Amino acid sequence: MYEKERLEMVERLERTGFVTNRQVLDAMRKVPRHEFLPRQLWPWAYVDNALPIGSGQTISAPHMVGYMLEVLDLHPGQKVLEIGTGSGYHAGLVAELVYPGGQVISLERIPELGDQARRTLVRLGYGDLIRVMIADGTEGLPQEAPFDRILVTAGGPSVPPPLKDQLGEEGILVIPVGGRTYQQLTVIKRDGDKFEESALGLVTFVPLIGQHGHKTN
Ligand code: SAM
Repeated sequence: MYEKERLEMVERLERTGFVTNRQVLDAMRKVPRHEFLPRQLWPWAYVDNALPIGSGQTISAPHMVGYMLEVLDLHPGQKVLEIGTGSGYHAGLVAELVYPGGQVISLERIPELGDQARRTLVRLGYGDLIRVMIADGTEGLPQEAPFDRILVTAGGPSVPPPLKDQLGEEGILVIPVGGRTYQQLTVIKRDGDKFEESALGLVTFVPLIGQHGHKTN
C-alpha cells in the first residue's frame, strides 16, 4: 500500500540532494511511513512534512529524518540509542541500517506514544531488533552503554552530559540544541577523550523534556 507514493517521495529527496546515502535511501524506500501514523493521516504520509502523532508530538519530516540518518553514518552491527521514539518511524529506519547484527534501543517519555510505537514496530517485524522503553532519555541508559551512535529527535537547551558519557570510542551523537523555537542540529564525534562538535544548520524540533533538558512543556 502507498508504495508508488513512497518511491516518489524518496526520488524527490534524492533529486533535491537532501539525502544522498544509498543505504539511507533504500531504507526509506522500504519502511512504510504511513503505518506509523493515525489512519486518517495516511493520505499525507508521503508528503515531506512533519505530522501530528498525538500527545502534542510529531513525526519529523522525511528530509530531516533522512539527513540525520546520513549524518549518523550507520553501519550493520552497531548499537544505537534513540531518544524520542515518537511514532517509531525513525527507529525502524535505524534498524534497517544496522541490520544484521545491530540493535536499537529507543527511549520515549510519553507512555502512550512509546506503547503505540512498540506495537507498530512489532507488527512490522522489528520486534527483535528494536527495544522501546519508557524513560527520561536525557539520562541515557547507562546499563546498556556504550553506544556506537546516539540520536536525539527532540530539541534540548544543551547536550545532556550523560549522553556524551555513554558514547563509545569513535561514537557519533546527533542532537538539536538551542531554544524552544529553533535549534542548531549538532553533531558530536568522539575520539577517545576528545569530543569534536559541529553545527549543521537551524532546525525546529519539539522540546526535549527531562532532567538534562527543558523542565516543562
Ligand atoms: N523519532 C520520532 C519519530 O520517528 O516519530 C519523532 C520524535 S518527536 C519529534 C520527539 C519525541 O521526543 C516526542 O515523542 C517526545 O515525547 C520525545 N521526548 C521529549 N523529551 C524526551 C525525553 N527526555 N526522553 C524521551 N523522549 C522524549
